[in-house]
Amino acid sequence: ENFFESTLKKESGESENILRPKYFVDFPGQDQVKERLSIFVEAAKMRDEAMGHFILSGPPGLGKTTLAYIVANERGKGIKTSSGPVLEKPGDLAGLLTSLTDGDILFIDEIHRLPIAIEEYLYSAMEDFFIDIMIDQGVGARSVRLNIPKFTLVGATTRLGLCSAPLRSRCQHVHRLEYYSPEELGRIVKRSSELIKCEMDHQASDEVAGRSRGTPRIANNLLHWVRDYAQVKADGFVTLELANKALNMLNIDSNGLDEMDKKILKTIAFNFECGPVGIKNIAVSVGEEVGTLEEVYEPYLIQEGYLVRTQTGRVISRKTKQMLGVQENQSNEQ
Ligand code: ADP
Repeated sequence: ENFFESTLKKESGESENILRPKYFVDFPGQDQVKERLSIFVEAAKMRDEAMGHFILSGPPGLGKTTLAYIVANERGKGIKTSSGPVLEKPGDLAGLLTSLTDGDILFIDEIHRLPIAIEEYLYSAMEDFFIDIMIDQGVGARSVRLNIPKFTLVGATTRLGLCSAPLRSRCQHVHRLEYYSPEELGRIVKRSSELIKCEMDHQASDEVAGRSRGTPRIANNLLHWVRDYAQVKADGFVTLELANKALNMLNIDSNGLDEMDKKILKTIAFNFECGPVGIKNIAVSVGEEVGTLEEVYEPYLIQEGYLVRTQTGRVISRKTKQMLGVQENQSNEQ
């Protein structure tokens, strides 16, 4: 497992809590989503109602969980969290729902992985604020109706395409999070470095930001690594030179691409003559699932102009060919 893969996984450690912005003003980036959500929150406050249910979608580490907490804070309500694969039995969901109070948020991460049986319970809860659950089995079996406070479901997903139509239709909005610009990530790194008391200059924080694959979670993790490195190898102050040395040790290139990104691009270049090649063939070659390629890796590669999606398949761009040292005339022109 490479550094990026482990870093993309959720960790709810202490440091993640310290670094998590609590209000919209402390949260750089995602301007459109923030603006829409803050209107949504204000309106609910003015009417003193629960907000409508909504979905936050986008690649891991971009701030879906953070935004759910911010919305709860800004609304002045509580939040309970769970995740799709964890909710196995109707009782798990019932327990969560009945622990809420009016206006609270129920945040379900990886909502596309919610078992279908649980999802069905959730529908009546979302729509009419009750659930019917079965008590006992066999002859004693009976159904009991539980009323539920007027809550707001916030579902997070990296795979919007896998969210069922009934679930989506019960949500008022779907907000898509985008990768962050280097400037936005620079602000995030600066803010985080102050919070973890890591002294660094501007160039160093920009370097960390530029190598973070557009992703705040990666930026924060790289920052921690750079701080450790500077503490052990120098006096703790992070200069550009130190940041570069520390980041090079993790095999993170200056474009911020991770090993899977590079594997995908190299596969297309060298195994499939620069494309066009179908996503299934790429998936088999790199040993990753099609869905993960499409929703976690490809969006960044496409946004940054490394990869092009055409009708006949995926093709690498000229920029990628130059990076990999592939000669133009060896391949189909793109
Ligand atoms: P997701 O739920 O989308 O996987 P999280 O909300 O857990 O992502 O965010 C991952 C980490 O990145 C958290 O430590 C969070 O504090 C940080 N983070 C995410 N977005 C921002 C942002 N816009 N500004 C500052 N920190 C952020």
